[in-house]
Amino acid sequence: MGQESDPELPALLGGSPVFPDGPPTWPLRDPAITSVFHALLESGDWGRYHGPHTTALSRQLADFHAVEHCLLCCSGTAAVELALRGAGVQDHDEVILAAYDFKANFQNVLALKAVPVLVDVERTTCQLDPARIEAAVTPRTRAILVSHLHGGVVDVPRIRELARGRGLAVIEDACQATGARLFGRRAGAGADVGVISFGGSKLLTAGRGGAVLTSRPEIAERIKRHVQRGNDAYPLSEMAAALLPPQVAQLDSRNRQRFAAVRTLRQMPAVARLNPFPEPPGDVEPSYYKFGFQYSPAAFGGLTRDQFVAAAHAEGVALDAGFRSNHLIHASRRFRAADELVAASHWDQTILTLHHPILLEAPQALEGFGRAIDKIFRHAEAIIRHGE
Ligand SMILES: *Cc1c(COP(=O)(O)O)cnc(C)c1O
Repeated sequence: MGQESDPELPALLGGSPVFPDGPPTWPLRDPAITSVFHALLESGDWGRYHGPHTTALSRQLADFHAVEHCLLCCSGTAAVELALRGAGVQDHDEVILAAYDFKANFQNVLALKAVPVLVDVERTTCQLDPARIEAAVTPRTRAILVSHLHGGVVDVPRIRELARGRGLAVIEDACQATGARLFGRRAGAGADVGVISFGGSKLLTAGRGGAVLTSRPEIAERIKRHVQRGNDAYPLSEMAAALLPPQVAQLDSRNRQRFAAVRTLRQMPAVARLNPFPEPPGDVEPSYYKFGFQYSPAAFGGLTRDQFVAAAHAEGVALDAGFRSNHLIHASRRFRAADELVAASHWDQTILTLHHPILLEAPQALEGFGRAIDKIFRHAEAIIRHGE
């Protein structure tokens, strides 16, 4: 047996990859979706501006989240913009958000000519630190934008409590936590207004799309007024809307499966070495769009995060560096930093995320994941030499 096929050797060094076909693809093949496509063809609904599918989806998602209004739109990013508008954010207002957050959220605040006020995340969880908010509030603060990221959970009730007395709106970005049950509510339904995405990689997918959720009539009204201005820039297509109801129906069972897979992974010594995000609080039923880790080169014989990611990709594993922290990629005149953002800078350098599709795979795939990490660990020194 030559080195090329040595299963013990990392794929990056010429061994055989644990997953020769790469990570599982998304979305899954699903007979329910095949039926939708057939029905769309038969009815011609796939090409129509208006029809029953958006109405039905909007009602289904409002019921699922136990909110009064679900307004569909063309992307999660558009949904965040609409949520900010619905919260009444205007020129020169300040919007508080975590420094470590989805880049488009930061840019949405700027697009409304408001000022992003960045607060730090928690060192242990990488999620927005509620304790940092109070000091960031000024008379110009209008809203707080909160994202649950990489399988983590932000304490939304605590933030609502803070916001209540100050007349601030709380926006909950549940694009990465769709379907999760947090503090007795669905993610996205725990604040004044919430947002989910139907982007191509997301847990509910139609390639593109999003939704705004709210039970506050004045917020829904402001959003409706904005989207009905006549240029029709925002709507979700009938075709996209038709693809989502079967996925909503499956979401809880799939989220339970993902949660179980994450628990299995946590028990593997190789995965523990990756230093996963802490377990969610006991009453939380999480939802994993990504599963986050705090990578440390010291735990992998000095392998840098980039070297580790390259080795993981060679094994066919979808582990990636998370996104950059916004305070490190945007000119400082574009935002106000409410504090030193020390933890956000730390996470910017250390975060790793595992993409969700593997969490619905058979147990062998989870074992394979552990094996791939272990292989990289045992050959760290050779991988470093290889890179020199
Ligand atoms: C995916 C995502 C969005 C919205 O993304 P779209 O691709 O525009 O649908 C917003 N916030 C977070 C945290 C996300 O992960």
